Amino acid sequence: MAGKRIILMGPPGGGKGTQAKRIQERYGIVQLSTGDMLRAAVAAGSPVGKQAKAVMDAGKLVSDEIIISMIAERISQPDCFNGFILDGFPRTVPQAEALDKLLTEKRMDLDKVVEVAVPDERLIERITGRFTCAKCGEGYHDTFKQPKKPGVCDVCGGTEFSRRADDNAETVKARLKAYHVQTSPLLPYYEKKGLLMVIDGDRDMDVVTTDLIKILGA
Ligand code: AMP
Repeated sequence: MAGKRIILMGPPGGGKGTQAKRIQERYGIVQLSTGDMLRAAVAAGSPVGKQAKAVMDAGKLVSDEIIISMIAERISQPDCFNGFILDGFPRTVPQAEALDKLLTEKRMDLDKVVEVAVPDERLIERITGRFTCAKCGEGYHDTFKQPKKPGVCDVCGGTEFSRRADDNAETVKARLKAYHVQTSPLLPYYEKKGLLMVIDGDRDMDVVTTDLIKILGA
């Protein structure tokens, strides 16, 4: 079976990362998160990381040039031949156009673009309370999902947790603005291509996953 090639869209804090991880496991395809790649570059102190850090801390978008070359290199690796789920990319029309060009060169098509929709007023609460296990990356939330045993990760037993530097109320507002101004034009872009599906992301995570799997098929 040919692998699936999916774009997961949606506002920051809407659950894209969580859902993309589940889809990655369900379909055996790789999750390509430009946010994760950038955070790894910042942690490694690479030239890209050094350039991106201040922009990310301000909640703005990193330049198309950096993002497109990062994705072009990543998508060419053998583990992507079997399919991938893009999480947080594309975020601008030039990025979407660059992706189209890349895929055409590789004789690949997109299967689906799914928007996980969540109203703005819910996002600030969702983002500012979230934290992850530093060891395995499992996601938690101060209000919605505490570890079963306080201070211990349910999945791996890790006892260290981290919060993203850009998950604070001020930066979130800038990230939401970037989403509405720069990223939302991609919804009509993919709708015109007949690829777009929208699901309600403001529900229990498991229900959202079930809906996603229904849309993506066997
Ligand atoms: P995310 O983890 O997807 O929320 O991304 C975190 C931050 O990384 C964003 O607020 C941007 O500063 C940057 N970023 C991630 N993906 C992109 C992208 N496709 N284009 C521009 N900036 C991005």
